[in-house]
Amino acid sequence: MLAFRLQVLFLLALPACRSAGQEPVSTAEVSSVPASEPAFLTASDLSIRSGVDTLDATNAEAIAILRSFFELKLQSQNITSYWVSTDPAPGTLAFADIAYVEYDEHANLKYFPTLMRIASLDKGDRLLTVKWAATDSTGTAADVRYVFDFLAHRTDEGMRLDRPLKHNTLNWQREDFGDLRYIVSPLHRFQQEQALEQELDVQRLSRFFGIAMFPITYYSFKDPADLFRARGFHLHPLMFVHETGGLADYGDRVFSGNDRDAYTHEIVHLFTTRKFGVERPDIMDEGLATLLGGSSGKPYAWHRENLRRFLKENPTFDPAGSTNMYNQFFIDKDTNVPYAIGAVLCAHILRRAGKEGLFKVMASGTDPWPALAELGVVKSELGTLVRAELELPVMEVE
Ligand SMILES: [Zn+2]
Repeated sequence: MLAFRLQVLFLLALPACRSAGQEPVSTAEVSSVPASEPAFLTASDLSIRSGVDTLDATNAEAIAILRSFFELKLQSQNITSYWVSTDPAPGTLAFADIAYVEYDEHANLKYFPTLMRIASLDKGDRLLTVKWAATDSTGTAADVRYVFDFLAHRTDEGMRLDRPLKHNTLNWQREDFGDLRYIVSPLHRFQQEQALEQELDVQRLSRFFGIAMFPITYYSFKDPADLFRARGFHLHPLMFVHETGGLADYGDRVFSGNDRDAYTHEIVHLFTTRKFGVERPDIMDEGLATLLGGSSGKPYAWHRENLRRFLKENPTFDPAGSTNMYNQFFIDKDTNVPYAIGAVLCAHILRRAGKEGLFKVMASGTDPWPALAELGVVKSELGTLVRAELELPVMEVE
């Protein structure tokens, strides 16, 4: 079950930022973790489209390693026999976004992989395009769910797979602004004034968290589809769902799909990861990112006002029932209510217990409620607390 728990974590971890890459496929997908062990793919489950040159020796070697990937990826934490990562994400997390894509929402094998194409690259490398599709009643793999490019590298140990991000962005424009290194999609026009604004915000966060500045890699994309493509996807179920979004990833990287060179919300997550580690309370983490960096390109004060009006119009609505950051729901198009509630809670804690109190809760692990209780905040009274906080002047956070 470890693998499936990881999947749940992954599906949960990335959507958090209305992320292009990681919006939850559906709440059903997240909650339908099977009670029994899932079936796994075998090496022979990979089909090869007719027309793919399987006789070429390098192609044959690349195909063999791709088969190993499908057979081993969920069965062993040791990835070195088939994967060589240029990605900073550790171990199997380097391919977490394709690790489970053959399963349906009930964790049954449904979308089987087919190798569609092999392209030759420099130095004997290969690009392998794989689609995952369910077969219809005629046996045709027509219901295509994902299409992804694997990069097969030639190494001293033989061919190994990698995701193609580095390859895809190799010749993209680079811009350096202080500790920010921008990697700019050809579809996005770099805006120097936004980068300067971002640099100032990073300095502000450095002061707020009491953490020295550190190098950040900022990928600037035109939109989420552009972001998905760079990360290897020709097709992903969430590729065209949102007009904007982004994510913070391992290696102090931010992927911005909002056509802007500033995305402070995501950068807050880099700081909270540094300061509080991986086990952070979601409601506080998304709340603080929204308080300090806004969300969906709008500042905290804007979301706060939307939430205030929404709660006035819906006096029986209980915010305590909307503290799961993965059950997103939006009001006024761009205000994600659980994020806004988290932000108001963080503002309240700052007002009541200062940064020291807030940081103590942030550092208390994934469940914040015991630490919040020490500050007199209990979940059953969250609605009263949030409504009261919303009537106070907006908290200025320094
Ligand atoms: Zn976020």
